[in-house]
Amino acid sequence: MKYLKSYKLLTESIKKEKKEVELPNISELKIVDIKTIEGKNKWHSSKDKLIHMILDLGEWEEFPSSKIPEFYQNIKKWIPSLHEHRCSEGRKGGFFSRVRMGTWLGHIIEHIALELQTLAGDDTGFGRTRGTGKKGEYNVIFNYEKKSRGILAAKEAVKVAKSIIKGEKPEIKEIVEKLKKK
Ligand SMILES: [Zn+2]
Repeated sequence: MKYLKSYKLLTESIKKEKKEVELPNISELKIVDIKTIEGKNKWHSSKDKLIHMILDLGEWEEFPSSKIPEFYQNIKKWIPSLHEHRCSEGRKGGFFSRVRMGTWLGHIIEHIALELQTLAGDDTGFGRTRGTGKKGEYNVIFNYEKKSRGILAAKEAVKVAKSIIKGEKPEIKEIVEKLKKK
């Protein structure tokens, strides 16, 4: 009985701790700029149509995916086709594994932008995310086939990430339809 009681106390305190994770305000995550790169560039030797989004994570810099409650479970559930993304692990499911272990939102947004274009029928798949040197700021680079669609994919990817952070299901099908019309 005594044992049971202490177990109950323990699980309650775990639950409490989980709830008490204080997340930054969602507006901390901002697009600073979106540019396009055409022609020779430092990011890829042969890909010459790239989106270059500068993203400011603000306080989210302290929150890799592993620290955002339910993020890994929800992104897997809501965008299951991201399973195809190998990422640095070089195997299917590689990207999801990075999300589970904890990776930063800029990198996640890069993968979402690529996947939105894939779902819209484009053959893309190259992406890189690197810090700009300023704390919390990232260069998010990914290739596109159609410029206007690539730019919209960047913006929508940020919105999708924000929905997932908030635990709200993003309307992927509707977004993809919008991209197809671009
Ligand atoms: Zn990756």
